[in-house]
Amino acid sequence: MNRNLQDGLNFFSKLTRKRVWNALKVIYSFYESKATGKALHRGLPMSISFEPTTSCNLRCPECPSGLRSFTRPTGMLEGDLFKRTIDELSETLLYLIFYFQGEPYLHPKFLELVKYASQKGIYTATSTNAHYLTDAAARRTVESGLDRLIVSIDGTTQEVYQQYRVGGKLEKVLEGTRTILKWKKQLKSSTPHVVFQFLVVRPNEHQIEDAKRLAKEIGVDEIGFKTAQIYDYEHGDPLIPTLDKYSRYAENNDGTYRIKNSLDGHCWKMWHSCVITWDGKVVPCCFDKDAHYRLGDVSETSFQTLWQSKAYTDFRQALIRSRSEIEMCKNCTEGTQVWA
Ligand code: SF4
Repeated sequence: MNRNLQDGLNFFSKLTRKRVWNALKVIYSFYESKATGKALHRGLPMSISFEPTTSCNLRCPECPSGLRSFTRPTGMLEGDLFKRTIDELSETLLYLIFYFQGEPYLHPKFLELVKYASQKGIYTATSTNAHYLTDAAARRTVESGLDRLIVSIDGTTQEVYQQYRVGGKLEKVLEGTRTILKWKKQLKSSTPHVVFQFLVVRPNEHQIEDAKRLAKEIGVDEIGFKTAQIYDYEHGDPLIPTLDKYSRYAENNDGTYRIKNSLDGHCWKMWHSCVITWDGKVVPCCFDKDAHYRLGDVSETSFQTLWQSKAYTDFRQALIRSRSEIEMCKNCTEGTQVWA
């Protein structure tokens, strides 16, 4: 069977009556808010990202974990906080991403957390730099029930790979991926669906075709090419790709750069998802890396209370008026991922 189809069927198998009903409420709330200009929400998130840890072994140049530049504390997600939140949301939650900042496999109980969510029938996914996929970790990953494993591979040669993944070893990534695929086969498991994710920046854009070939050779299920967010893009940046399709930014006549997206007044993410940091802070989306826009804290309040709070409603309302009201939302290019 086609592997993308298999993953799709697996995803649909997670749909229960309550999850479908909640998804309908989310979609209805989004369009109702757009039509009336009044932010409201009648459901719960369909998807959340939970951050296992802010720690990371690499030093990627556009990542606050890599640069060690967070102003928020760094640490590890506590199992009790995670389980309490999942218990509250599991009936309506469809998709759980174990990733925000940091390398998830550095959390000592990471795969136990995955197993917990997986056993509740939630579609689980994570994103890794694949430096910790030892034989034992790879086997436990398959056994945990993880549905999707995204492996960051941003170059097909060590020289190019390390330009963005500073401190990383390409051979380790390839070996770790092969080990996961070996255990999938050995345990006759169709999960996790293994995806190579290639972050396209100028230094690696010439390797896009090589990456597709490498993905085929290793035998991963899918490869995706992701556009990069650049913080100081206005005056250009050596990381901005020259290939227009893979750039979030366009060059002006005077040589400066602008964001390509139009700042129209809506954001689907604010209705269907949210991000929870390792210490329980709820933030709007993955653009808020340093948790600047804190909309609540699951270590203090129930999720349902904070999801309907004034802070959340005000944030959604500001987005309906215009994305340009919120600094972070100006540099947002939701949905700019190119799949192959
Ligand atoms: S940064 Fe983008 S995704 Fe995040 S809340 Fe703003 S508009 Fe939505």
